Amino acid sequence: MAQIQGLAAHAAGAELLPFHYDPGRLGSQEVEIAITHCGVCHSDLHLIANDWGISQYPFIPGHEIIGAVAAVGGQVRSLQVGQRVGLGWQSNSCGHCEWCNRGLENLCPDNEGTCVHRNGGYADSVRANARFVIPIPEALASENAAPLLCGGITVYNPMCTHGVNPSSRVGIVGIGGLGHMAIQFAHAFGAEVTAFSTSADKEEEARALGAHKFINSRESKAIKEAHRYVVLCGRSTLAGRHTGLSAHLRPALHQRQPYRPPQPDPGDDGRGRPPRREGPDRSLPHGQGQRSPR
Ligand SMILES: [Zn+2]
Ligand SMILES: [Zn+2]
Repeated sequence: MAQIQGLAAHAAGAELLPFHYDPGRLGSQEVEIAITHCGVCHSDLHLIANDWGISQYPFIPGHEIIGAVAAVGGQVRSLQVGQRVGLGWQSNSCGHCEWCNRGLENLCPDNEGTCVHRNGGYADSVRANARFVIPIPEALASENAAPLLCGGITVYNPMCTHGVNPSSRVGIVGIGGLGHMAIQFAHAFGAEVTAFSTSADKEEEARALGAHKFINSRESKAIKEAHRYVVLCGRSTLAGRHTGLSAHLRPALHQRQPYRPPQPDPGDDGRGRPPRREGPDRSLPHGQGQRSPR
């Protein structure tokens, strides 16, 4: 098998330099992708800098990958050579633990990040378990599809989890790589969208992307007003230490009740009956578990 050529970090924070490796024999459940596009996610930068203390050098970063299937393993039936596909953060999992069986492969103790202790997408090719290789619809241009595979799903997922719909009010904190996609998703879900940014000059673009309101989070009066009606999504970002926004928003956020995941329904007798759906929806992130009127 030919060597895979790419650009690798050879030390923490170092410039990416040419690198090649032998991928070995293609596994029976693996797909090899000939890469045409790869996004730049901030997690790549964290890995290059070893911010998380888990990086092993040299390695090729990149996990927002688009390309064409170049080869499939003997047991792969879902994909064909030549098909345009995408690969995101995760490239493998055990496939049989309780998490994998529930479709929560990201929680699998054996899950493998595409460029964590393996080589990712700043290369001519990459390999992954076929279960994590996704056909890309024709309507999507490759350069637009690539960022959806990590940044996009990161903001899309909480909107699904929280059931965002046309009666929702969604606040997007930080109008950057993730935020600009989050605005568009929330708008497409039909929600009333409020964009928060410390940069007043992002208002025009935020509104063009679909934001109905724009709040400069350096203005405490505007924040005080907003926390009365905004549904908070992407809580990890809000609580994160990486965004300067959090310092401005923290006082407002602390006035809200913390989100609690759904609890077992007392109406579920444990024999598989569907839970009752009476009363407030506890899966919602509203402080009191109720939808606020628009
Ligand atoms: Zn598993
Ligand atoms: Zn990422």
